Amino acid sequence: MSKASHNLPLHTPGSNAKIRTVDVVVIGGGIAGKACALGLAQLGLQTLEIAPDLGNLVPAPTGPQWGQRIYAFSPSTQKLLAHLQIWDALDHSRLQAVRDMRIFGDRGEQADQLHLSAFEAGTPQLAWIGESNLIEHTLDQAARFQNKLEQIADTVEKIETDADGVTLQLKNHSSIKALLVVAADGANSPTRASIGITASEESYSQSAVVANWNCTKAHLETAYQWFLPGGDIVAMLPLPNKQVSMVWSTCPENASDLLGLTQADWDKKLGLIADGAVTKQLGTLTLNSTPAAFPLRKIRAARFIGPEHNPKIALIGDAAHVMHPLAGQGLNLGLRDVSTLLNILSKRESFRSPNDLVLLRRYERQRQGDTSALLWVTDRLKKLFSDSSNTERHLRNFGLGFVNRSHFIKRRLIERALGDIDFE
Ligand SMILES: Cc1cc2nc3c(=O)[nH]c(=O)nc-3n(C[C@H](O)[C@H](O)[C@H](O)COP(=O)(O)OP(=O)(O)OC[C@H]3O[C@@H](n4cnc5c(N)ncnc54)[C@H](O)[C@@H]3O)c2cc1C
Repeated sequence: MSKASHNLPLHTPGSNAKIRTVDVVVIGGGIAGKACALGLAQLGLQTLEIAPDLGNLVPAPTGPQWGQRIYAFSPSTQKLLAHLQIWDALDHSRLQAVRDMRIFGDRGEQADQLHLSAFEAGTPQLAWIGESNLIEHTLDQAARFQNKLEQIADTVEKIETDADGVTLQLKNHSSIKALLVVAADGANSPTRASIGITASEESYSQSAVVANWNCTKAHLETAYQWFLPGGDIVAMLPLPNKQVSMVWSTCPENASDLLGLTQADWDKKLGLIADGAVTKQLGTLTLNSTPAAFPLRKIRAARFIGPEHNPKIALIGDAAHVMHPLAGQGLNLGLRDVSTLLNILSKRESFRSPNDLVLLRRYERQRQGDTSALLWVTDRLKKLFSDSSNTERHLRNFGLGFVNRSHFIKRRLIERALGDIDFE
């Protein structure tokens, strides 16, 4: 039987090392990895999750200061979390439903705006906003009570595939054999690289500065986004208790300047955005977190399963795709990978092993359309609003107003943002 070795370089364990056998290994301890590991264990598969940052329970967020990582969760994410018995266990006082989204063009004209409304879409809400550690904490708690799931704080150093499955060597010298490996090890996925899956990568030459604010005016359960001349994008996402979470995408130099601002500097800065539109909408904003910046890029793995000659590994989450946060969809897309994989494995024919090529190909096929469409739309929007030519400027602002007047296009946009996932 031929063996292919995929070096995540370094160490080779002693030849007498004992090999443990499980059904699935999930590599990665972010939300995608944790949700996937829990779901696989709930299917009855003996699952091992491995990541250096596992081991300690992520503390539940508490108190008036909110976490740095705030996400918009789409209804497809809500469905997955409900399916995993996580949604009802969340502290809902730390989740804000979004009923409206208002997106403004960069000419400052009243007509250049797009308004998406839950009422118009016939849905109770368009999304929820909440902290990353709220979800992670609850996933960790559920993992502790799931006897088919074990989490190990370690790093995978070597991966070998053969006809039966995958052998992993860990930094702690132990070896594990699994039928299937799920790589959820993030944008720089060492697993992706080690099994020879190439990825197209493009920097947006922008960083996202994130910060939370108390505001004096009600946010009206509305997520606001302003495209600014020059290519900056400022989003203000509603949080409970008259707070908002800002995501300001800007050039790296401006991002590092923003990180050093005092409250008085911010007062001036915020007052100038879109001719004062932010403060007009939300009132006076008082900083309620330590701002942080994240570099922005687009990544798409050439394949979502590998290695090519003998696929036994599936990529999910940022290991498969990374996008600009302007649509707030990166994690939601990654969790739709999880939902799809769980659906395929739960409905598999009784004669198929979890690493059956037909199942893996099904997974890859089903994830390609959603991924390509979202990556394309966010990328086009980002580039359309960065272009400084008058024609493009006219086109994009006219486009916003045009979409706003078309109920059909709006419904399709909302359907895409809600995501379409069902469990049986
Ligand atoms: C500013 C900003 C705002 C965003 N807002 C939103 C939003 O509103 N909504 C949304 O849906 N998405 C949003 N995103 C995208 C979202 O942050 C990511 O898509 C999501 O965090 C990816 O999760 P993940 O679990 O795939 O990867 P990660 O969270 O990156 O987790 C990767 C895991 O792999 C582990 N790992 C790495 N190397 C190894 C190794 N060798 N062995 C084992 N483990 C390893 C890491 O320790 C980590 O646990 C935003 C992104 C940015 C930058």
